[in-house]
Amino acid sequence: MQPRDLSDLSPYVPGRGAEEVARELGMDPDDLTKLSSNENPHGPSPAAVEAIRETAPNVGVYPKASHTDLAEKLAARWDVTPEQVWVTPGADGALDYLSRAFLDPGDRVLAPEPGFSYYRMSARYHHGEVATYDLAKADDFAQTPDTVLDAYDGERIVYLTTPHNPTGAEFSRAAIVDLAEAVEDHTLLVVDEAYAEYTDAPSAIDLLDTHDNLAVTRTFSKAYGLAGLRVGYGVVPEAWGEAYARVNTPFAASEVGCRAALAALDDDEHLERTVETARWARDYLRDHLDAPTWESGGNFVLAEVGDAGAVADATQRRGVIVRDCSSFGLPECVRVSCGTREGTRRAVEIINDVLTEVR
Ligand code: PMP
Repeated sequence: MQPRDLSDLSPYVPGRGAEEVARELGMDPDDLTKLSSNENPHGPSPAAVEAIRETAPNVGVYPKASHTDLAEKLAARWDVTPEQVWVTPGADGALDYLSRAFLDPGDRVLAPEPGFSYYRMSARYHHGEVATYDLAKADDFAQTPDTVLDAYDGERIVYLTTPHNPTGAEFSRAAIVDLAEAVEDHTLLVVDEAYAEYTDAPSAIDLLDTHDNLAVTRTFSKAYGLAGLRVGYGVVPEAWGEAYARVNTPFAASEVGCRAALAALDDDEHLERTVETARWARDYLRDHLDAPTWESGGNFVLAEVGDAGAVADATQRRGVIVRDCSSFGLPECVRVSCGTREGTRRAVEIINDVLTEVR
């Protein structure tokens, strides 16, 4: 017996972890600077850590109340109803729930190329087919309505990532409105705002008041520093009513994760510090890396370095882990996450040394 054929899917390639690399190199993980997964270098809010401690004795119960509390808190924050907030296991979970809610077997989705690989995985897991729209390097990976509409052919779901991973490019609000109005009635636009805390651009969430063909996905993994707890959410139009109850895996976001997310939402100071550090690092990377880079709205910068695999291996041997973008179809680029000031300076020094040697 064999599982069904998903051989067209490449397995998800995560940024390499510090422990894994440290073991391989015989180094102490504390001596490594990991800038390969767009994590928060300050980690979670101390209030979230405290909430995790306080919740530990309660993990014998199913997390029903904490889901409700989190949906209500997010609803108040975004000025929507609690039914419009789908609490999910990471933003990946939100993508899956939308696939479950919208895809019939054989439906097509349209995803960016290069782009976040889970769009295609989620669609295929839910018996969908995948088409892509191209973001052109020659055009600085610009994200405009035409970028999408040139490839659009009535797909059921169209994914928009803003800021985009790994390029950092953004869709303007006007572009999202234009697209919501240009696509056919049966097409859902999923606006992935995993990195939205790092940009000045407003969220697309308030567009849900006027457009019922949009959903916005967000996460606690990035700016809130809770990647290890797997909590995200979708915000959907009011008109969808109780759809969540039909697609939700019961209790999929954990009690600890929801309680930590609730505490993190109250710590504005930690979020501000996080965003300030990332903006500093973004500028520092762009100003000091000896390689062409692209403007980024996220907590990372894409840099063109030549042979990305060789550069990433060499920087790793010296203690800095960056993301080789070959798996994104950009074998000449690395993506460098924003670290602390110290970590970012160290990364730039080491990457520049490596570039001098390999050129
Ligand atoms: N969307 C984008 C664009 C991402 O880069 C990521 C994380 N790599 C996610 C969604 C998923 O984030 P998570 O499941 O950790 O919330």
